[in-house]
Amino acid sequence: MNANILGLHHITAISDNAKRNLDFYTNALGLRLVKKTVNFDDPGTYHFYFGNKQGTPGTVITFFPWEGIGPGKNGAGMATHIGYAIPDGSSGFWKERLAQHHITTEETEIFGEKMLSFNDPDGLQLHLVVPAHPDGRKPWSTQETPQDVAIRGFHNVTLTLRNRKPTAGILTDIFGYSLSEQAGNRYRFVTDAIDTANMVDIIEDPTAPVGRNAAGTNHHIAFRVKNDDILMEFREKVLKAGLDITPKINRDYFFSLYFREPGGVLFELATDNPGFTVDETLENLGTALKLPKRYESMRNKIESVLPEL
Ligand code: ZN
Repeated sequence: MNANILGLHHITAISDNAKRNLDFYTNALGLRLVKKTVNFDDPGTYHFYFGNKQGTPGTVITFFPWEGIGPGKNGAGMATHIGYAIPDGSSGFWKERLAQHHITTEETEIFGEKMLSFNDPDGLQLHLVVPAHPDGRKPWSTQETPQDVAIRGFHNVTLTLRNRKPTAGILTDIFGYSLSEQAGNRYRFVTDAIDTANMVDIIEDPTAPVGRNAAGTNHHIAFRVKNDDILMEFREKVLKAGLDITPKINRDYFFSLYFREPGGVLFELATDNPGFTVDETLENLGTALKLPKRYESMRNKIESVLPEL
């Protein structure tokens, strides 16, 4: 059994209008809505999960669409950029497709990897990256975003921090990542426990203004572990490092722990089990509103306050 951190599990961000968020990630980016549920701590708000066919860890972005929350501000102490892997040769397709959806892209390059950089409709900063090593994951594909261009899943996530060292220490000493590359104030950490969604970049900027959490910003990033036993082993390691961490929390589709890393980013550790097919068949993922058991008796009321999609 692999007792390591297996890269990213999911990334959760905040949006404003739910329908616009749903349209962008499914229609424009061609991801699959793998779960439509509510924020377990705020059941009048949706919680959307977008990923590949199964919602495999490492492919899943999730959103709390808080209607009317307004734009936040990316800054220090946040995960500020999310990188997705796309196939070599698909950049032109994505540039054109995003333009059709009124999204302006910029062609950039980080550590020799070419990418399209753009903001989602709420201002969340995304990268579509052609990885140095082709990404072999089977993507969810649609008629408009077929297999040869479809997004494979996460490539990396970038944290903007005033001081990289305490956070880098968590990545290297607890999570098993190591520094693979550095250019200027950008540091890339990689784990070899898995070969996709396995990179965390840190931009160290001592003068970066503090961010503000609202639409278009990250809420937390979740790292992947195989099962509950390994989850609890990591709980001990985080405690031993002198950090506070929550007890194990049942998120219905995985079990989780949360802790605030010293640089200010909310980190989660999440299990592969039980996965998104625990309450829907694979074919039907994302088609019905799923509620945790404790809210099932309030279904009518919850459905009446959720925004129109
Ligand atoms: Zn989470």
